[in-house]
Amino acid sequence: MIKKLVCKTIFNISPYQPGKPIEEVAREIGIEDVSSISKLASNENPLGPSPRALEAIRAKLPMLNLYPDGNGYYLKQALAEKLGVGVDQLILGNGSNEILELVSHLVAGQGKKVVYSGTSFAIYMIMSHIFGMSSIEVPMCDFVNDLEGLAAAVTPDVALLFLCNPNNPTGTAVRPEDLDDFLRSLPRELAVILDEAYYEYLPEEWRYDGIARLGDPAYPHLILLRTFSKAYGLAGLRIGYGISTPEFIDVLNRVRQPFNTNSLAQAGALAALGDQEHVEKTLRVNREGMLQLEEGFRRLGLAYVPTFANFILVRVGDGDAVFRRLLARGVIVRPMGGYRLPEYIRVTIGLPEENRRFLRELAAALEQT
Ligand code: PMP
Repeated sequence: MIKKLVCKTIFNISPYQPGKPIEEVAREIGIEDVSSISKLASNENPLGPSPRALEAIRAKLPMLNLYPDGNGYYLKQALAEKLGVGVDQLILGNGSNEILELVSHLVAGQGKKVVYSGTSFAIYMIMSHIFGMSSIEVPMCDFVNDLEGLAAAVTPDVALLFLCNPNNPTGTAVRPEDLDDFLRSLPRELAVILDEAYYEYLPEEWRYDGIARLGDPAYPHLILLRTFSKAYGLAGLRIGYGISTPEFIDVLNRVRQPFNTNSLAQAGALAALGDQEHVEKTLRVNREGMLQLEEGFRRLGLAYVPTFANFILVRVGDGDAVFRRLLARGVIVRPMGGYRLPEYIRVTIGLPEENRRFLRELAAALEQT
């Protein structure tokens, strides 16, 4: 009986539902050519990785017998320079997901609570259950993080607050000045994870300068999370980073595995960081794709949530049925029932041809009853 052995809260977790491998989807619907499947389910970069990252990764292959640099020296150096922070203010993670877990390790304890928005990244709920903390889910306000509601939910037993901006899966963002007022209103002795996985997609005037607030005693213990999985196109390498105070990073380093990010990931990320052209192209393709999808939704008479990220939430009626019909037509999106939005699907903004195909298949799926 494994139940007797395992911590009770683990059974509250519904395992994270990743999309199926495209090879498997192709097999199930009887398509031989995997490249004819459009995967618009996981907010990946449709342009692929930066060619410079690929080159750097290839150059590292002969050295795979060696352990990676446990300190990520070169990558942290480059990030520190780009962000204007000290190297001791950075931690690398096996995806930014790993850092969510490391922070949870730090603060977890008997009777502690976690606060986050009810319609936000599924991993927050999973983390709170893994670490035996009870969670307070604050409803969204018109698909936007309800900052007042979140602040009101913070009681003295709350140890951790997750805030995703822009928010996954809604794509909405909060204004920098509102975010600043919110953070300043929180108690000092609180860890706040500001999850900025989609930060690069925000227009300049919507970007919050959290770095400038680090260590300011008027703010809670803040850590900003960013990733190479989205705008940098390296989701398969699993590498992200956290930015905080040297004090916070020091304690995080105590709970991480010594070789948590691999050598290919470090080399690829370093090269990708130097390829601003690829990032610019990514943002341009995303903006154009956003307009293309929005126009398509309007033509189909579908309501959608205006987005700041590389995905769009669109209301299709029976989200699960539309998801399955699209799947059968070779287009993979995300149903949103798990986020209590059963009438919606979330689609990642793809290349123009992928967006065209998605809209065509969506129109057909909506007609099918
Ligand atoms: N935070 C959010 C809001 C995300 O959407 C994702 C990826 N889906 C992550 C974190 C995790 O990113 P990574 O690949 O860096 O682990």
